[in-house]
Order: sequence, then C-alpha cells, then structure tokens
Amino acid sequence: MPISQNLVHEFIKILGRENVFTEEAERQSYSYDGAVLNPVVPALVAAPDRQEDLGRTVRLAYENGLPITVRGSGTNLSGATIPEQGDGIVILTNRLNKILEINEEDLYAVVEPGVITARFAAAVAARGLFYPPDPGSQSVSTLGGNVARNAGGLRGLKYGVTKDYIMGMDIFDYRGELVKTGSRTVKCVTGYNLAGLMSCSEGTLGVFSTIIIKLVPPPRASRAMLALYSDARRASETVAGIIAAHIVPCTLEFMDNKTVKYVEADTRAGLPVEAAAVLLIEVDGGHEQMVEEDAAKVIAVCRKCGCTDVRVAKNAEEKARIWEARRGALPALARARPSIVLEDATVPRSRFPDMVTAVDDIALKHKLDVATFGHAGDGNLHPSILCDRRDKEEFARVEAAVDEIFDAALKFQGTLSGEHGIGMAKAKWMEKETNRATVEFSKNLRRALDPRMLFNAGKKYV
Ligand SMILES: Cc1cc2nc3c(=O)[nH]c(=O)nc-3n(C[C@H](O)[C@H](O)[C@H](O)COP(=O)(O)OP(=O)(O)OC[C@H]3O[C@@H](n4cnc5c(N)ncnc54)[C@H](O)[C@@H]3O)c2cc1C
Repeated sequence: MPISQNLVHEFIKILGRENVFTEEAERQSYSYDGAVLNPVVPALVAAPDRQEDLGRTVRLAYENGLPITVRGSGTNLSGATIPEQGDGIVILTNRLNKILEINEEDLYAVVEPGVITARFAAAVAARGLFYPPDPGSQSVSTLGGNVARNAGGLRGLKYGVTKDYIMGMDIFDYRGELVKTGSRTVKCVTGYNLAGLMSCSEGTLGVFSTIIIKLVPPPRASRAMLALYSDARRASETVAGIIAAHIVPCTLEFMDNKTVKYVEADTRAGLPVEAAAVLLIEVDGGHEQMVEEDAAKVIAVCRKCGCTDVRVAKNAEEKARIWEARRGALPALARARPSIVLEDATVPRSRFPDMVTAVDDIALKHKLDVATFGHAGDGNLHPSILCDRRDKEEFARVEAAVDEIFDAALKFQGTLSGEHGIGMAKAKWMEKETNRATVEFSKNLRRALDPRMLFNAGKKYV
C-alpha cells in the first residue's frame, strides 16, 4: 500500500531528498535479507545520516502508524529485516556510521549503529586494542545489527559474544525520545539493564543511535591448528575433551566432510578432503610459553580422541589460510545449490556429538544434502541444507528436517538459535522452547515499549 505523498514530503523535509527512497527499484533492495523467505517490498525507505534525524524519522513513522523495520546491512539469516507487509517503512542505519570515540585509557569506544564490524575491529586494532566478536559476516554486518542479534563469531568460546562488550547505549523509543542506559564506566548499576534488554531485541523495542563498546588488550601470542579425523563423532568428542582438560581455546570450530569438500573446491586452501571431519583450533594468551603449553595439551587431547593428524600453522600466512577456509564455509556452501537453509541449533557442549549424529540421521531420513559446520566449542551447530526452494517436493522435506533438527536440539536441552536469532523464520517455535507464559510475558513487555506493535511487526514473538 503506498504512503501518501504528503507524508513522503514530511520525511523528505526531515532527511533531504537523497536520503528517502521512493522508487520501486530502490525499495526492492530492502525487500529481502539472508533468509530463504519471500521478499516483501517496503512502501518507503529512509536512511538518516544524523542521529537527531533518526529520532525524528521514528517519531513521524510511529505517529502515522507505519510499521517500522530497522535495518543495518540485512545479513541476518532469519527474515528479521523483511517487512511483514508492504505498507511500512524501512529505516536504514548504514549512513549513521561514525566511530565517535576510541578511548585507549579507559578501554572503550562509542559508535553509531551503522559502523561495519570489521572496520571497527581494524580501527581499534590500529590503536593497539582488541574487539573480539567476529561474526562470519563482519566485513558487511553493522554493529547495530550485531547488538540487536547478539551476534557471536569464531572467538565466542573464550571471549564471549556481542552482549559481553556492550557498556551502554542511547536508544530512540517509539515517540522518538532518546533513552540512555549504561555508561563509560566499568561498573554502572544506576538503572535497569536496558542495554541487556536491547541485546537480542531484533529491532522490536526501539532503535539504537549510539553504542558504548568495551575493548580489551589483544593477546600477544597464538597458535592455530587443524586436527583431522576419519570419524566425525571422534572430532565432536574431542571438543568436550578439550574443555574437560580445562583449556579454553579462543576458537574451536568443526567442519564435516561435505563442508570441507565444498570449501576446498571453492578456496583451494589445501584442506584435507579425505577427512570425515576437521577441527580448527586456536589457542592464545599473554605469553608464548603458556600458549605453547596449551597447544601441546590440545594436541594430546586430539590424539587421545583418535585424530589421524594435527597440522599446526607454522607462520601467520598458514594461520590466515586456516581461518579464511573457515570463513569461506557459508559462501562456499551457498554457491553449491540455488538455496541454502542455514540452521543454528545449539546444545550444551557435552551433547555436541549427539547433535552431530542426529543431524546426519535426519539428513539421511529426508534424503537431503546437509553440510554441517559450526562453533563446536559453543555447542553451536550450523546444519546447512543445500536445496532448491522452487522444488516444492524437496522443500517440504527441508521443512520437515528443520522441525526435526529443532526437536533434537530441544531434546538435548539446547536452543533454537545460538546466534542467528528468531526473526520471522523461527517465531512459530518460540513457545515450544519456552512456554505460553514466557511468550505472553515477552509480548506484554513489547506492548509497553511499543503500544501499537509497529517495531518489526511479525517477528520474534507473534
Ligand atoms: C555469510 C554470513 C555469515 C554470518 N556469520 C555469523 C556469525 O558468525 N555469527 C552470527 O551471530 N551471525 C552471523 N551471521 C548473521 C548476521 O550477519 C548477524 O546476525 C549480524 O549481526 C546482522 O547484522 P546486520 O547489520 O546485517 O543486521 P540486519 O540483518 O540488518 O538486522 C539484524 C537485526 O538487527 C536489527 N537492527 C539493526 N540495526 C538496529 C538498530 N540500530 N537498532 C535496533 N535494531 C537494529 C534489525 O531490525 C534486525 O532485527 C552471518 C550471516 C551471513 C550472511
């Protein structure tokens, strides 16, 4: 449904003509994201480039009853930025992309929400500091999107995820009023932990306009290695073995044989295509000797658990090749077939071997091509179903398999999503993981902060 010309002019008055997209061809680019779902073209797209304009845009949209979809780079994989219907506005944050402060003394930074994650990490690294969360999409994703999804990454096991680095933020509420939470101090208990509430909020509670981010000193030494297995279950058992030996690698990733083959075909990184599975492991710390000792302990656990070989990266170039291969997993798999349904089931670490086996069984049962990789150290699996959405019969099998993957994760006391969020794609499973009372409680909270339920309608709790 089109928005009245008068209202369009109101937005243009606030934002300038160049920051309001009205043409269908322009709006189409904001009708989809990383999920395998039908696109919905928004009626209007607004791209404020000043914080005060972001607030005024939210106010004008809300007062006029427009459904609001806030969008960073649209890399989410669950339909969180697909408008529910074509009668609303997409508010883009990617022109709010200033790094406002990097404070080397007090170890924090202040950013606008549209700053690209990798650009931020590089800017703080240039000042001798470290921002650990590194989602696979970091070269494109925004920090606002990372916060709203509580994005994880390869370093989650030791360094935590996005929420562990949020010290505070400013948020525009539904009236376009600026709400402040947290501070630049290490400790702050003066108000509700609204920043905590905003992490995982998926654009349903308000719009972040600035974020205060914790920084840490970088590790001084690291060792990366690749452990090869002729039996995938042994690889997954190694994960529990490493943790049980009280070593916390910064990264502990799993790739099954299918993933290795697709990645190798795509990247020619020298991955062992004969291996049933590989673990990609990195240990780091403040001293060479300590890291050496941890690496030796990890290698011993890998051997005890039956790995066939461990290849330790001899230099920075070999290390970079290991991680490029891992980061190439999703793009390589996405190129294999017309569609990829990438799931995110997560289980307690000790159940990781059971979950890997369950996914293999489900793939076999439904005759589907499923490649599995993921953040093994976090119990976070990405079973990736390679398919063609246009093939109705095949896609019905995909949907049945996804249901069973979630059932298995819940049976192992896991969760629907470790890092990709709920969006539109998984909203219908929310009650299954929790209960009716939890869904109602969350909806009441949402109604209190968004009385007309216009923020990201049709997502998360429906
Ligand atoms: C190749 C690839 C690899 C990926 N790897 C990972 C990974 O390793 N770990 C991981 O966690 N995810 C991963 N993802 C998923 C995705 O990149 C992350 O969820 C990321 O945080 C999304 O950032 P974005 O800027 O694209 O946000 P968008 O997709 O634009 O939005 C995500 C959510 O944030 C909300 N939002 C955005 N900006 C704001 C704001 N200013 N205020 C309020 N709400 C806002 C949106 O409404 C939406 O609900 C991957 C995706 C791809 C395509």
